[in-house]
Amino acid sequence: SGKFFVGGNWKCNGTKESISKLVSDINSAKLESDVDVIVAPPFVYIDQVKNSLSDRVEIAAQNCWTGKGGAFTGEISAEQIYDLGCSWVVLGHSERRHIIGEDNEFIGKKAAYALSQTLGVIACIGELLEEREAGKTFDVCYQQLKAFADAVPGWDKIVIAYEPVWAIGTGKVATPDQAQEVHVAVRDWLSKNVSAEVASKTRIIYGGSVNGSNCGELAKQEDIDGFLVGGASLKGPEFATIVNSVT
Ligand code: 13P
Repeated sequence: SGKFFVGGNWKCNGTKESISKLVSDINSAKLESDVDVIVAPPFVYIDQVKNSLSDRVEIAAQNCWTGKGGAFTGEISAEQIYDLGCSWVVLGHSERRHIIGEDNEFIGKKAAYALSQTLGVIACIGELLEEREAGKTFDVCYQQLKAFADAVPGWDKIVIAYEPVWAIGTGKVATPDQAQEVHVAVRDWLSKNVSAEVASKTRIIYGGSVNGSNCGELAKQEDIDGFLVGGASLKGPEFATIVNSVT
């Protein structure tokens, strides 16, 4: 459902020099036209990327503050992100949930404020390995979805990224069936708790060890509407392969 959406989350990687090379590799890659392509550089390189990357590719921030700027040392506001020319922000990434300690309510606030400042939100959800093993995958994802749903006024500018934590940066990609199963559950949840229209229109993308070799099988799944890519997005040609896996 919706246009295929591929985001490259560069996380806390890169230097001016490596990012200059990555941008030029992306600029020279052939990207299928029917795909929304987004990259999320570290904040400090957003301006460099904005000034050198083709307009074909949109830019996301990897995080933002919960509200308007002011006396919040070290934070970056949605207004500032918009001012730099970003159109998206990644929120609720598992590294922020589990390493930094952000909770559902805090993430919900950020989502609501970012949307109010006209940014699109890449809303990340996903279970830990122990939660999957305890049979809690759907419950965890539903709670995380509910926190977004309770906070936001609408779903027009939200893309949901299902990223099982055990698959992130581990090389242990979810099987196409495992990903599809959760994507269907997410759509079902949206249908019951938001609306059938939102359920059918909202893009649900998969993240966790996606690479140039496994993207094709995943992309064939009916409810996988794109990818959020970490490690493999740091290599321009491989990122292009993933973008072009659209079926
Ligand atoms: P990897 O692709 O490196 O597993 O990271 C996925 C991710 O966290 C994207 O946000």
